[in-house]
Amino acid sequence: MHHRSTPHHLAPAPAPAPAPVTVIVGGVAGGMSTATRLRRLDEDREILVLERSGAVSFANCGLPYHVSGVIPERAALELQDPARLAARFRIDARVRSEVVAIDRAARRVTVRPADGADYELGYDELVLSPGAAPRLPDRVAPDAPLHALRTLDDLDAVMVAVDGLPSGARAVVIGGGYIGVEMADNLHRRGLATTIVQRSSRLIGGLDPEMAAPLAEHVLERGLGLRFGNTVTAVEARRVVLDDGSVLPADLVIAAMGVVPESGLARAAGLEIGATGGIVVDDAHRTSDPAIYAIGDVAEKRDRVDGSARLVPLAGLANRHGRAVADAIAGRPSISASALGTAVIDVLSLTAASTGWSEEHARSRGIEVRVIHSHPLSHAGYFPGARPMSLKLVVDARTDRILGAQAVGTEGVARRIDVIATAMAADLAASALADLELAYAPQYGSAKDPVNMLGYIARNLADGEDATIQWHELDDAVADGAVLLDVRAAGQLAEGAIPGATWIPVEELRERADAYAGRRIVVHCRIGQGAHTAARLLASLGHDVVNLDGGYLTWRDGMRARAHEHAADATTADLRAA
Ligand code: FAD
Repeated sequence: MHHRSTPHHLAPAPAPAPAPVTVIVGGVAGGMSTATRLRRLDEDREILVLERSGAVSFANCGLPYHVSGVIPERAALELQDPARLAARFRIDARVRSEVVAIDRAARRVTVRPADGADYELGYDELVLSPGAAPRLPDRVAPDAPLHALRTLDDLDAVMVAVDGLPSGARAVVIGGGYIGVEMADNLHRRGLATTIVQRSSRLIGGLDPEMAAPLAEHVLERGLGLRFGNTVTAVEARRVVLDDGSVLPADLVIAAMGVVPESGLARAAGLEIGATGGIVVDDAHRTSDPAIYAIGDVAEKRDRVDGSARLVPLAGLANRHGRAVADAIAGRPSISASALGTAVIDVLSLTAASTGWSEEHARSRGIEVRVIHSHPLSHAGYFPGARPMSLKLVVDARTDRILGAQAVGTEGVARRIDVIATAMAADLAASALADLELAYAPQYGSAKDPVNMLGYIARNLADGEDATIQWHELDDAVADGAVLLDVRAAGQLAEGAIPGATWIPVEELRERADAYAGRRIVVHCRIGQGAHTAARLLASLGHDVVNLDGGYLTWRDGMRARAHEHAADATTADLRAA
């Protein structure tokens, strides 16, 4: 007979261990990626998300495009809401709930709901993803029409302000970085007379001057105003005051002067903060307290090129690192790759993209660089619709390592930068770009893709088969006695010419080069390719010759950048003249 023990013979069943609790501060890019991934990995854990604003999981990157109506529905920007998160993921997401203190010893946070009394929550792991706060001008009058754009609440306030303005009202955007340019673009589309005030003499930090110059030209051509070399010192009721004392009328002012990590909570809790102002984390995003993680705009990243700590406020990293933290909390191996800062922006229908280091940054770090500019077409020239672009590759001259790349154009720009970013992530050398097998049909690319071409040029330079100088080195070369030869085809001369250049078509070089015996020759064409042929010819005839990298087009962009610098404290009209 089957023996059955009676209950009183059994030891009392142990109480089930309480499920661990993960508390997440900030419920958007990084925080919500952590929350949903963690739920997929662990059904039992308690997951609480505290969000200060009125919405979680909204599309920050789409916010500017609702201002103009490019994204017509506000609802499209709300990717999730607390009810759906509770039903689908059993995530307890609380909006209008700010975390105001962390008690690390007790592992508790203090939460301040907008409509109630403070309360405390215990945690086993705490994830900080509170993002970054917009910088604001120093002096802002109480009735100033100043807005920043970070949350849906901010967007709602901007929409109320814009809806109350007549077409043609004046908007000033402070800052010509990514968010500033996007906001200016959308305010302009909305019919506001928009001016960007930018401290430096170029739009989109991170681009080298000759790559950024066409963006400013384009913005001016589209009818926006640009004030380079100025900062806004005060925002008043209907105007902004600039540091040179001049005044711009303004019915609406957008602060897009950059962001600072929201690291106050972490600082107050005694977590280590880096020199950048971001929270110091290890490769698994752990702060100096192993129970607390930090991701997104608030946390420092490790630079892919030199391993230094830097801030990279970009959505892709926040999302990926959110996922990585969930893995770490769930006990999975989780080491994140370092950051390249790959970014892309639409500047009134012109695309600018970059990855890794700029030439300026590399040189400022004392690195000997090889720089390559090219001006390819987006796809085969014989197939209708090919569009020009400018590409730039920055290479460590000692190692052939790719340090960074930039591109400006329209079609195909982001794709080329993504390929190079991938090559950098895989530690491919610049010369190895020549061998990449990239998708090709004439409407998409070329049999020698622009990225392959960069690799060919890099290989030629590495092999010593070609030598180049940069647009900013030309004046010194000529001052040192070099002669500048223009080998463009006759039909290309109408675009303009570099002062002091002597025009000799490639076909006549053999006969006429003797006149320059004993002198260094700088040879240039329109984009650098024809001059490469000319340089090979001249070298084989025994001349000391270098190719002006990127040709006339890069030089022209460089001169535009210089003009922007000189006009940095001038008016829109001066910039237009440049
Ligand atoms: P966020 O996504 O900003 O989330 C942080 C949240 O934490 C905020 O909602 C905030 O309210 C909340 N919070 C802060 N402190 C507390 C607290 N103490 N308690 C509770 N909640 C708190 N990146 C790109 O890569 N491409 C783009 O095109 C792009 N466009 C952008 C456009 C705009 C207008 C903006 C603002 C940003 C854009 N970004 C873009 C940047 C990208 O959105 C951020 O890098 C990313 O959202 C950072 O994620 P995060 O989780 O660190 O912060």
